[in-house]
Amino acid sequence: MAPESDMKLLAPGVFAWLPRLGSTWGMANCGLVSSQGETLLIDTPYTPALTDVLLDAVREVAGPAAEPAHVVVTHANGDHTWGLQQLPGVEIVATRAALDHQCIEPTPQQVQALIHDTDPDQPLGWYIRRHFGRFDFSDVQVLPPTVTFTGRYDLKVGSIPVELHEVGPAHTVGDLIVHLPEQRVVFAGDIVFAGDHPPHWAGPLENISAACERILALDPEWIVPGHGPLMRPDELRSYIAYLNDLADNADVMHAQGRTSIEAVRILLDEDRYPGLGLPERLAITLGTEYRHLDGGSAAPDMLALMNHAATIAWEYSSTA
Ligand SMILES: [Zn+2]
Repeated sequence: MAPESDMKLLAPGVFAWLPRLGSTWGMANCGLVSSQGETLLIDTPYTPALTDVLLDAVREVAGPAAEPAHVVVTHANGDHTWGLQQLPGVEIVATRAALDHQCIEPTPQQVQALIHDTDPDQPLGWYIRRHFGRFDFSDVQVLPPTVTFTGRYDLKVGSIPVELHEVGPAHTVGDLIVHLPEQRVVFAGDIVFAGDHPPHWAGPLENISAACERILALDPEWIVPGHGPLMRPDELRSYIAYLNDLADNADVMHAQGRTSIEAVRILLDEDRYPGLGLPERLAITLGTEYRHLDGGSAAPDMLALMNHAATIAWEYSSTA
Protein backbone atom coordinates (compact mmCIF):
# COMPACT_ATOMS: atom_id res chain seq x y z
CA MET A 1 0.00 0.00 0.00
CA ALA A 2 1.40 3.38 -1.01
CA PRO A 3 1.95 5.88 1.80
CA GLU A 4 0.57 9.36 1.50
CA SER A 5 3.31 11.61 0.24
CA ASP A 6 3.88 15.10 -1.01
CA MET A 7 6.12 16.27 -3.82
CA LYS A 8 6.85 19.81 -2.64
CA LEU A 9 8.20 22.43 -5.03
CA LEU A 10 11.00 24.35 -3.27
CA ALA A 11 12.32 26.30 -6.27
CA PRO A 12 11.98 25.89 -10.05
CA GLY A 13 13.20 22.35 -10.81
CA VAL A 14 13.81 21.46 -7.15
CA PHE A 15 11.44 19.22 -5.20
CA ALA A 16 11.33 17.39 -1.88
CA TRP A 17 9.39 14.12 -1.71
CA LEU A 18 8.00 13.79 1.81
CA PRO A 19 6.24 10.56 2.78
CA ARG A 20 3.73 11.10 5.59
CA LEU A 21 3.29 8.29 8.07
CA GLY A 22 3.74 9.92 11.48
CA SER A 23 6.45 8.92 13.94
CA THR A 24 8.04 5.71 12.75
CA TRP A 25 11.20 4.29 11.21
CA GLY A 26 12.21 4.03 7.60
CA MET A 27 10.10 6.66 5.82
CA ALA A 28 12.88 8.85 4.48
CA ASN A 29 12.52 12.04 2.49
CA CYS A 30 14.01 12.16 -1.00
CA GLY A 31 14.94 14.99 -3.35
CA LEU A 32 14.54 15.69 -7.04
CA VAL A 33 16.47 18.15 -9.19
CA SER A 34 15.27 18.50 -12.77
CA SER A 35 16.53 20.92 -15.41
CA GLN A 36 16.77 20.94 -19.22
CA GLY A 37 15.74 17.29 -19.51
CA GLU A 38 18.24 16.06 -16.89
CA THR A 39 17.09 14.53 -13.63
CA LEU A 40 18.92 13.79 -10.38
CA LEU A 41 17.51 12.03 -7.33
CA ILE A 42 18.72 12.49 -3.78
CA ASP A 43 18.33 9.14 -2.00
CA THR A 44 15.78 6.43 -2.71
CA PRO A 45 13.10 5.08 -0.35
CA TYR A 46 13.50 1.92 1.74
CA THR A 47 12.11 -0.66 -0.67
CA PRO A 48 11.66 -1.24 -4.41
CA ALA A 49 7.87 -0.85 -4.00
CA LEU A 50 8.19 2.54 -2.30
CA THR A 51 10.71 3.60 -4.95
CA ASP A 52 8.13 2.91 -7.65
CA VAL A 53 5.79 5.31 -5.81
CA LEU A 54 8.53 7.95 -5.81
CA LEU A 55 9.31 7.40 -9.51
CA ASP A 56 5.62 7.88 -10.39
CA ALA A 57 5.71 11.19 -8.52
CA VAL A 58 8.93 12.14 -10.34
CA ARG A 59 7.32 11.55 -13.74
CA GLU A 60 4.32 13.62 -12.70
CA VAL A 61 6.43 16.72 -12.09
CA ALA A 62 9.42 16.16 -14.41
CA GLY A 63 7.59 14.69 -17.39
CA PRO A 64 6.56 11.14 -18.38
CA ALA A 65 9.94 10.41 -19.97
CA ALA A 66 12.01 11.59 -17.00
CA GLU A 67 14.75 9.05 -16.24
CA PRO A 68 17.06 9.95 -13.36
CA ALA A 69 20.65 9.55 -14.59
CA HIS A 70 22.21 10.15 -11.18
CA VAL A 71 21.30 9.33 -7.60
CA VAL A 72 23.17 11.05 -4.80
CA VAL A 73 23.17 8.89 -1.69
CA THR A 74 23.38 11.01 1.48
CA HIS A 75 24.53 7.97 3.52
CA ALA A 76 24.34 4.19 3.39
CA ASN A 77 21.43 3.40 5.74
CA GLY A 78 18.98 1.09 4.00
CA ASP A 79 16.08 3.55 4.26
CA HIS A 80 17.98 5.83 1.86
CA THR A 81 19.47 3.27 -0.52
CA TRP A 82 17.50 0.04 -0.78
CA GLY A 83 15.42 1.24 -3.72
CA LEU A 84 18.40 1.74 -6.05
CA GLN A 85 17.73 -1.46 -7.99
CA GLN A 86 14.63 0.21 -9.49
CA LEU A 87 17.01 2.51 -11.40
CA PRO A 88 19.15 0.14 -13.47
CA GLY A 89 22.29 1.68 -14.90
CA VAL A 90 22.00 4.85 -12.85
CA GLU A 91 25.16 6.56 -11.60
CA ILE A 92 25.25 6.34 -7.79
CA VAL A 93 27.33 9.04 -6.08
CA ALA A 94 28.33 8.75 -2.42
CA THR A 95 31.27 9.47 -0.14
CA ARG A 96 33.98 6.82 -0.04
CA ALA A 97 33.28 6.41 3.69
CA ALA A 98 29.67 5.45 2.92
CA LEU A 99 31.10 2.13 1.75
CA ASP A 100 32.43 1.52 5.26
CA HIS A 101 28.98 1.97 6.72
CA GLN A 102 27.53 -0.36 4.12
CA CYS A 103 29.68 -3.10 5.67
CA ILE A 104 28.08 -2.79 9.13
CA GLU A 105 24.46 -2.11 8.13
CA PRO A 106 22.37 -5.27 8.62
CA THR A 107 21.50 -6.75 5.21
CA PRO A 108 17.91 -6.67 3.90
CA GLN A 109 17.73 -10.41 4.51
CA GLN A 110 18.89 -9.97 8.11
CA VAL A 111 16.26 -7.28 8.73
CA GLN A 112 13.63 -9.48 7.08
CA ALA A 113 14.63 -12.31 9.43
CA LEU A 114 14.42 -9.96 12.44
CA ILE A 115 10.87 -9.05 11.47
CA HIS A 116 9.76 -12.66 11.14
CA ASP A 117 11.99 -14.78 13.39
CA THR A 118 12.25 -12.74 16.59
CA ASP A 119 9.94 -13.32 19.55
CA PRO A 120 7.02 -10.85 19.31
CA ASP A 121 6.58 -11.07 23.09
CA GLN A 122 10.06 -9.72 23.75
CA PRO A 123 11.07 -6.05 23.33
CA LEU A 124 13.15 -6.43 20.16
CA GLY A 125 10.67 -8.61 18.29
CA TRP A 126 7.76 -6.40 19.37
CA TYR A 127 9.56 -3.20 18.38
CA ILE A 128 10.91 -4.41 15.05
CA ARG A 129 7.48 -5.70 13.95
CA ARG A 130 5.84 -2.46 14.99
CA HIS A 131 8.21 -0.21 13.05
CA PHE A 132 9.56 -2.39 10.22
CA GLY A 133 6.80 -4.97 9.70
CA ARG A 134 5.18 -2.91 6.92
CA PHE A 135 8.22 -3.28 4.66
CA ASP A 136 9.12 -6.20 2.40
CA PHE A 137 12.89 -6.50 2.05
CA SER A 138 12.97 -10.02 0.61
CA ASP A 139 14.02 -9.01 -2.92
CA VAL A 140 16.24 -6.05 -2.09
CA GLN A 141 19.72 -6.05 -3.60
CA VAL A 142 22.20 -3.70 -1.96
CA LEU A 143 24.01 -1.72 -4.64
CA PRO A 144 27.34 0.01 -3.98
CA PRO A 145 28.05 3.52 -5.25
CA THR A 146 29.53 3.81 -8.74
CA VAL A 147 31.26 7.15 -8.01
CA THR A 148 32.82 7.97 -4.64
CA PHE A 149 34.62 11.05 -3.38
CA THR A 150 36.08 12.63 -0.27
CA GLY A 151 35.61 16.24 0.77
CA ARG A 152 33.61 17.83 -2.00
CA TYR A 153 32.11 16.91 -5.36
CA ASP A 154 30.39 19.26 -7.80
CA LEU A 155 28.03 18.43 -10.62
CA LYS A 156 25.47 20.13 -12.78
CA VAL A 157 21.92 19.03 -13.56
CA GLY A 158 20.95 20.97 -16.68
CA SER A 159 21.61 24.55 -15.61
CA ILE A 160 21.48 23.85 -11.85
CA PRO A 161 24.81 23.61 -9.99
CA VAL A 162 24.82 20.94 -7.27
CA GLU A 163 27.47 20.80 -4.53
CA LEU A 164 28.06 17.70 -2.41
CA HIS A 165 29.85 18.30 0.90
CA GLU A 166 31.13 15.41 2.99
CA VAL A 167 30.20 16.04 6.64
CA GLY A 168 30.72 12.60 8.21
CA PRO A 169 31.44 10.87 10.42
CA ALA A 170 28.29 12.22 12.06
CA HIS A 171 25.00 10.32 11.69
CA THR A 172 27.00 7.53 9.99
CA VAL A 173 30.64 7.48 8.90
CA GLY A 174 29.77 8.45 5.34
CA ASP A 175 27.35 11.41 5.46
CA LEU A 176 27.09 14.10 2.83
CA ILE A 177 24.80 17.08 2.37
CA VAL A 178 23.55 18.42 -0.96
CA HIS A 179 23.69 22.18 -1.45
CA LEU A 180 21.93 24.00 -4.26
CA PRO A 181 23.50 27.47 -3.93
CA GLU A 182 21.31 29.23 -6.49
CA GLN A 183 18.06 27.88 -5.02
CA ARG A 184 19.29 28.16 -1.39
CA VAL A 185 18.22 24.62 -0.55
CA VAL A 186 20.15 22.04 1.49
CA PHE A 187 19.23 18.36 1.53
CA ALA A 188 20.64 17.36 4.91
CA GLY A 189 20.14 13.59 4.87
CA ASP A 190 19.99 12.14 8.38
CA ILE A 191 22.21 14.84 9.86
CA VAL A 192 18.83 16.45 10.57
CA PHE A 193 15.60 14.87 11.84
CA ALA A 194 12.43 16.93 12.25
CA GLY A 195 9.74 16.05 14.78
CA ASP A 196 11.31 12.89 16.18
CA HIS A 197 14.45 12.08 18.14
CA PRO A 198 17.22 11.05 15.72
CA PRO A 199 19.08 7.75 15.99
CA HIS A 200 22.73 8.70 15.46
CA TRP A 201 25.03 5.74 14.87
CA ALA A 202 28.53 7.17 14.30
CA GLY A 203 28.80 10.40 16.30
CA PRO A 204 30.06 11.95 18.41
CA LEU A 205 27.30 14.52 18.87
CA GLU A 206 29.68 17.43 18.37
CA ASN A 207 30.27 16.23 14.79
CA ILE A 208 26.54 16.31 14.09
CA SER A 209 26.25 19.83 15.58
CA ALA A 210 29.24 20.90 13.48
CA ALA A 211 27.60 19.50 10.34
CA CYS A 212 24.42 21.45 11.19
CA GLU A 213 26.48 24.63 11.66
CA ARG A 214 27.97 24.05 8.21
CA ILE A 215 24.44 23.87 6.82
CA LEU A 216 23.52 27.17 8.51
CA ALA A 217 26.69 28.78 7.15
CA LEU A 218 25.45 27.99 3.63
CA ASP A 219 22.56 30.37 4.36
CA PRO A 220 19.75 28.15 3.06
CA GLU A 221 16.15 29.18 2.78
CA TRP A 222 14.96 25.57 3.09
CA ILE A 223 16.52 22.58 4.80
CA VAL A 224 15.18 19.16 3.82
CA PRO A 225 15.77 16.81 6.76
CA GLY A 226 16.28 13.08 6.24
CA HIS A 227 12.96 12.49 7.99
CA GLY A 228 10.05 14.76 8.90
CA PRO A 229 8.77 18.11 7.67
CA LEU A 230 10.81 20.81 5.91
CA MET A 231 12.80 23.15 8.13
CA ARG A 232 13.75 26.79 8.21
CA PRO A 233 17.11 27.91 9.68
CA ASP A 234 15.58 28.84 13.05
CA GLU A 235 14.25 25.31 13.45
CA LEU A 236 17.70 23.98 12.65
CA ARG A 237 19.11 26.24 15.39
CA SER A 238 16.67 24.64 17.86
CA TYR A 239 17.80 21.19 16.72
CA ILE A 240 21.45 22.19 17.30
CA ALA A 241 20.55 23.36 20.82
CA TYR A 242 18.95 19.95 21.44
CA LEU A 243 22.07 18.12 20.21
CA ASN A 244 24.32 20.25 22.40
CA ASP A 245 22.09 19.77 25.45
CA LEU A 246 22.14 16.04 24.88
CA ALA A 247 25.94 16.05 24.64
CA ASP A 248 26.21 18.05 27.90
CA ASN A 249 23.88 15.64 29.69
CA ALA A 250 25.79 12.63 28.38
CA ASP A 251 29.03 14.15 29.69
CA VAL A 252 27.60 14.74 33.14
CA MET A 253 25.90 11.38 33.53
CA HIS A 254 28.86 9.47 32.12
CA ALA A 255 31.08 11.19 34.70
CA GLN A 256 28.57 10.20 37.41
CA GLY A 257 29.03 6.56 36.42
CA ARG A 258 25.53 6.08 35.05
CA THR A 259 24.98 3.79 32.07
CA SER A 260 23.59 5.18 28.82
CA ILE A 261 20.28 3.43 29.46
CA GLU A 262 20.06 4.98 32.93
CA ALA A 263 20.80 8.36 31.35
CA VAL A 264 17.92 7.86 28.89
CA ARG A 265 15.50 6.99 31.71
CA ILE A 266 16.50 10.13 33.63
CA LEU A 267 15.95 12.38 30.59
CA LEU A 268 12.59 10.76 29.81
CA ASP A 269 11.39 10.87 33.42
CA GLU A 270 12.08 14.59 33.60
CA ASP A 271 10.40 15.07 30.20
CA ARG A 272 13.40 17.08 29.06
CA TYR A 273 12.46 17.11 25.36
CA PRO A 274 8.65 17.35 25.22
CA GLY A 275 7.03 17.09 21.82
CA LEU A 276 9.68 14.97 20.10
CA GLY A 277 8.54 11.54 18.92
CA LEU A 278 10.31 8.18 19.24
CA PRO A 279 12.09 9.06 22.53
CA GLU A 280 13.49 5.51 22.76
CA ARG A 281 15.96 6.51 20.05
CA LEU A 282 17.81 8.44 22.76
CA ALA A 283 19.17 5.01 23.70
CA ILE A 284 20.88 4.82 20.30
CA THR A 285 22.28 8.34 20.23
CA LEU A 286 23.41 8.23 23.87
CA GLY A 287 24.82 4.73 23.38
CA THR A 288 26.84 6.16 20.50
CA GLU A 289 27.97 9.14 22.61
CA TYR A 290 29.03 6.83 25.44
CA ARG A 291 31.11 4.78 23.01
CA HIS A 292 33.11 7.94 22.29
CA LEU A 293 33.25 8.99 25.96
CA ASP A 294 34.64 5.52 26.73
CA GLY A 295 37.33 6.11 24.11
CA GLY A 296 36.01 3.38 21.86
CA SER A 297 37.00 3.40 18.20
CA ALA A 298 35.14 0.23 17.20
CA ALA A 299 32.24 0.37 14.73
CA PRO A 300 28.80 0.61 16.33
CA ASP A 301 26.90 -2.58 17.07
CA MET A 302 23.68 -1.50 15.39
CA LEU A 303 21.65 -4.46 16.60
CA ALA A 304 22.72 -3.96 20.22
CA LEU A 305 21.75 -0.27 20.00
CA MET A 306 18.39 -1.18 18.47
CA ASN A 307 17.83 -3.65 21.28
CA HIS A 308 18.41 -0.86 23.83
CA ALA A 309 15.87 1.36 22.04
CA ALA A 310 13.36 -1.50 21.98
CA THR A 311 13.86 -2.08 25.70
CA ILE A 312 13.17 1.58 26.49
CA ALA A 313 10.11 1.67 24.20
CA TRP A 314 8.80 -1.52 25.86
CA GLU A 315 9.28 -0.11 29.37
CA TYR A 316 7.66 3.21 28.61
CA SER A 317 4.75 1.79 26.63
CA SER A 318 3.73 -0.41 29.55
CA THR A 319 4.01 2.43 32.09
CA ALA A 320 2.28 5.04 29.88
ZN1 LIG B 1 17.11 7.62 7.54
